Amino acid sequence: MAEDSEEKPKNFHEMELDNRILKAIAKLGWQAPTLIQERAIPLLLEGKDVLVRARTGSGKTAAFAIPVIQKILTLKQTAKRQEIKALILAPSKELCNQICGVVQDLTIKCSQEVRCVNVAPPVELGVQKPLLVERPDIVVGTPTRVLKHVKAGYLDLKKSMELLVIDEADLVFSFGYESEVKELMDRLPSIYQAILASATLSEDVKSLKSLVLHNPVTLKLEEPDIAPASQLTHYHLLAEEMDKATILYALLKLHLIRGKSIIFVNTVDKCYKIKLYLEQFAIPTCVLNSELPAKIRCHSVNQFNQGIYDIIVASDEKALEEPGNPNEKGKVEGQKSKRKKDKESGVSRGIDFQHVANVINFDFPLDAQSYIHRAGRTARGNNQGSVLSFVSIREKPLLDEVENYLKNGQEDISIFKAYKFKLDEVEAFKYRAKDAWRAVTRIAVREARLKEIKQEIFNCQKLKNYFEDNPTDLQVLRHDKALHTVKIQQHLSDVPEYIVPPTLKGMTGLSKKNKRKRDSYQTSQASSKRFQAKKSNPLLSMDFEGFSKKKRKKN
Ligand code: AMP
Repeated sequence: MAEDSEEKPKNFHEMELDNRILKAIAKLGWQAPTLIQERAIPLLLEGKDVLVRARTGSGKTAAFAIPVIQKILTLKQTAKRQEIKALILAPSKELCNQICGVVQDLTIKCSQEVRCVNVAPPVELGVQKPLLVERPDIVVGTPTRVLKHVKAGYLDLKKSMELLVIDEADLVFSFGYESEVKELMDRLPSIYQAILASATLSEDVKSLKSLVLHNPVTLKLEEPDIAPASQLTHYHLLAEEMDKATILYALLKLHLIRGKSIIFVNTVDKCYKIKLYLEQFAIPTCVLNSELPAKIRCHSVNQFNQGIYDIIVASDEKALEEPGNPNEKGKVEGQKSKRKKDKESGVSRGIDFQHVANVINFDFPLDAQSYIHRAGRTARGNNQGSVLSFVSIREKPLLDEVENYLKNGQEDISIFKAYKFKLDEVEAFKYRAKDAWRAVTRIAVREARLKEIKQEIFNCQKLKNYFEDNPTDLQVLRHDKALHTVKIQQHLSDVPEYIVPPTLKGMTGLSKKNKRKRDSYQTSQASSKRFQAKKSNPLLSMDFEGFSKKKRKKN
């Protein structure tokens, strides 16, 4: 087995890819392959079995999807009949949807030639039978669903399948799919090319590797835990709780933070506190925490990705990794051992928060690993991103710990840039912030927590009963609705001209004309468009002092 390929990095157009794939890549706006794509695509095009270890957000879906599509297009030139050529397995419905989405994006210019069917949605098998009868080129699904179709005789892989991909391979066994995968192996042809993609090289992956791969190349890229400084900027700002709240309000209301943002806090209560606080300024946010059903969390992330709203408040990064909701467990496809009882429990693992421009640590994370997880929500693929951490005196030692960890012994570099925010320039915001912060009492938070769960469980039922049949209506079910457990004071939603810092007047898009628009839910889409325009440096807008200086010089 070869370790680490010596292949020279190539750009997409040097990889001998079909023009239609190149056009699709250009349409996606991808300028260059990510590291994993550079290394994996040529190897896979050569026909090698590959074990890819790459962190989530590294672009690994396209790293296997591009060669799969290329291979299908090549095979099609000589194929006599339409056949299923590739099977992609992933451990959750949501991941399957995401993979299918990437394949669709990449086949936009050859959608007639390469068709992909996702069998993961838990509908009657018979409903999906007509799709499989047409022998789509690519079938995506969880091992359980795929096996069910094979057993029902709707899916015959033995004759034609040439490519097998298992994504998030480390989760496949730990989610309890072991026996299904083994059973499936017996129903595959004896020769095919296989790809395992995984965030870790756990024992589970090793056993899957010996089961699935033949003489593989292992691509264990020396990727840093975190995106490089050229892609990800780390800011910190020293402030105590009330000042943090004021600054957050001012940054958001003055549109100094643009693009999609995830605000992290350390507890579920705080999550609602921030939501209720911002609600008073007519800043809609969506809450994500471990108390909410996994299905709802995924739906929220999907809506966020679609640009329906711009701000998520997450209680902690673990909420995005583990559902931890006992009510959800057991609902999915049966139980096995203690560890394997919830096959799709890690639904958010691998789920991509797309185009997150900013991660804001309202509460500083409790250790370096948490910081890395949070920061990893932005600067995905080759995109730019920023992390802005609010740090209280008590949290300062944690900041130092993270700085030391990220420096990794390189004393001459500094990780965190000071984000200079002049609090005295937003004095008027302080009063409003104080009012609104105090209005969010413990009781209001508790009520909001209950209300949100009730609302989301209701949504969950609605989701199940209605939206399965009407998937296009899914957008109606928003997760950023106001909870109204704090009395809304209408005047707080406006930013009167006199409180805008003089240095920012005319620069923040707060003209009267825009007033109505900016406070409506449409703001999210509008700002998302603006962000697209500023994609190269999404946090440029955060440089509050920079703005001031420029303006002053002019004067
Ligand atoms: P993944 O690791 O596959 O979940 O991909 C993470 C994100 O990176 C997705 O939002 C992709 O759209 C994006 N991405 C993948 N490849 C590239 C690329 N070459 N350039 C820019 N973004 C990319």
